[in-house]
Amino acid sequence: MPTVYLNGTFMPMEEACIPVTDRGFLFGDGVYEVIPAYGGRLFRLPHHLQRLQNSLDGIRLANPLENSEWENILNTLLAHNAEEAGPNNDQAVYLQVTRGSAAKRDHSFPADIRPTVYAASNPIPDPDPQIARQGLAAVTLDDIRWKRCDIKATTLLANVLLRQQAVDQHAAEAILVHDGLATEGSASNLFVVKDGIILTPPKNECLLPGITRDLVLELAEKHALPCKETDIPLEQLLHADEIWITSSTREIVPITRLNNQPVGEGKPGRIWQAAIERYREYKDSVRIGIVD
Ligand code: PMP
Repeated sequence: MPTVYLNGTFMPMEEACIPVTDRGFLFGDGVYEVIPAYGGRLFRLPHHLQRLQNSLDGIRLANPLENSEWENILNTLLAHNAEEAGPNNDQAVYLQVTRGSAAKRDHSFPADIRPTVYAASNPIPDPDPQIARQGLAAVTLDDIRWKRCDIKATTLLANVLLRQQAVDQHAAEAILVHDGLATEGSASNLFVVKDGIILTPPKNECLLPGITRDLVLELAEKHALPCKETDIPLEQLLHADEIWITSSTREIVPITRLNNQPVGEGKPGRIWQAAIERYREYKDSVRIGIVD
């Protein structure tokens, strides 16, 4: 039974309870983060804590903990769950902060309530070698979400419906289109390769500022892989040489079929191969404690 953290206490997951009046439950009034840890070492923690702060600012909720407190809690949680995580001890931490619980259900913020703080961790399975050989399928869908997609809000109903629509069409991800521009996936960021250049949409309120996205750009620059932040019109997506999606738990995934058509040559591309090698090198250096 995994150990979780809830409001100051570590406990077995089955003992963790929140009141039915919690605003996370009633309104989706909260934010979250997913942070990988390789070999028990948190990956890009300062970046994730900064994004958490930005999300909390976005919903006007004070951060209940200092960064050093977050770090202690998450490291303790990882240690509790290390045995169940397998020999590599790769885990993904999920943390959530909601506005808390008030007796009366009312949309406006209640006075004097304490936020609910929850964290859990799950083993991260090794990357599936089949994906490196074949890639995955995606479909394009109209982005039906709200105007603050830069906030990592727990309110994920639109993302859930979009992902399910993709799955119903035997695809692994929905690539979302907003005003004619491809912005991101239902739970991932978007990269396109055209004529040898790696392209990704610039950060704005239409997409989540992915930590993996930023790292891919950083590594591309460091290793002289040409890259550019630019709008990606749907037409350009449909004629891309390569398409990738990125997220903390899936790393960089090649999309080799889009809307039932092959992307480029229909197999993971040469530039994806270069990017994933640099990414895995970086990850290994975190695992052995050279960088964080
Ligand atoms: N966009 C959305 C909508 C997401 O849910 C995620 C994954 N949480 C991402 C992008 C990727 O972000 P990250 O690289 O920080 O996991």
